[in-house]
Amino acid sequence: MTLDNLFRPALSQMLPYAPGEQPPPGSGIKLNTNENPYPPPPAVVEAIRQAATGPLNRYPDPMANSFRQAAAEALGIPGPEWILAGNGSDEILTLLVRGFVGEGQKLRLPYPSYILYRTLADIQGASWEQTPFEDGWKLPAAFGNNSDDLRLVLLPNPNSPSGTIVPPSEVKKISDSLTCPLVVDEAYADFAETNCLDLVKQNERVFVTRTLSKSYGLAGLRFGFLVAQPHVVAELTKIKDSYNCDAISIAAATAAMGCKDWLANIKTKMNATRAAMQTRLTAMGFDVTPSHANFVWCQHPSSNHKAIYEYLKQNQILIRYMQFPDWGDGLRISVGTDEQIDTCLSTIERALKS
Ligand code: PMP
Repeated sequence: MTLDNLFRPALSQMLPYAPGEQPPPGSGIKLNTNENPYPPPPAVVEAIRQAATGPLNRYPDPMANSFRQAAAEALGIPGPEWILAGNGSDEILTLLVRGFVGEGQKLRLPYPSYILYRTLADIQGASWEQTPFEDGWKLPAAFGNNSDDLRLVLLPNPNSPSGTIVPPSEVKKISDSLTCPLVVDEAYADFAETNCLDLVKQNERVFVTRTLSKSYGLAGLRFGFLVAQPHVVAELTKIKDSYNCDAISIAAATAAMGCKDWLANIKTKMNATRAAMQTRLTAMGFDVTPSHANFVWCQHPSSNHKAIYEYLKQNQILIRYMQFPDWGDGLRISVGTDEQIDTCLSTIERALKS
């Protein structure tokens, strides 16, 4: 038997998850993976410095308790036992799928949305079912339908690539009708006006995932977390790696939770840039989807999106060209600094004329 035949059969059908292009830092303008263009809060940088001179010969706290305590206080959550820390929210999503969706079972996601959920189902030898958004990025009521093999429903909120939000009242209706858990992936919620944390307190089947990669400018560190009722956290703790978060990330994330004013300022600044992007793209003839996240989704009725992406790339500007089978394509542009956005949008203007 060749080595290839010894891999689990599920793998042969899979493609590796294709994250956005990640060129070396400092080469051009990077607006393709929704990172923060600004550095993290100074208090976080200081915490990292201190942690780096700490006892790195020792394993970190397996539960990241300092972070859990700080996050519970910052988010008004009843206690640290409602929080599970992870190596990026992608790890938390992995744990949720690993914990709830077995071989032959199914998860549901909206379409178009975050492709990783499908990969996670594939890894389990499970299947996935996509519910297309209706016009205006509304979720059909069928998103809350039950079936015997459905074990987990995942909703990015705000959604990617659209940046749109399903209001908490609608999310509540969906979670009330589902018999399986609903994961509200709030990777971008710090840029929005609403979130679903209250629903977690009301319903043991609603889980919220968050990340420090976007709003806190810490994508390079890898830290995310789950908010769920304590018995859910306790169960998932059984299947996580023993030391899933390192000491430096735990120190940084704990400090970040104390940076409420910094977060409010960055939100104001980036959302103002986002509004300006939306206005200027609209003036260029794009259909711009009103965004509640740190990126903007736009489609031009009479231009080739792939060609615009390529033109920008030739000019050392990376944005995301996204194509969704049976749906269409468009451009997703992350909120950058005002200067980066000015350069990017001027280059798009040139691309449209060329
Ligand atoms: N959820 C969504 C919807 C995302 O777009 C991303 C970023 N790719 C993540 C989760 C994962 O973020 P991270 O692993 O950096 O915490």
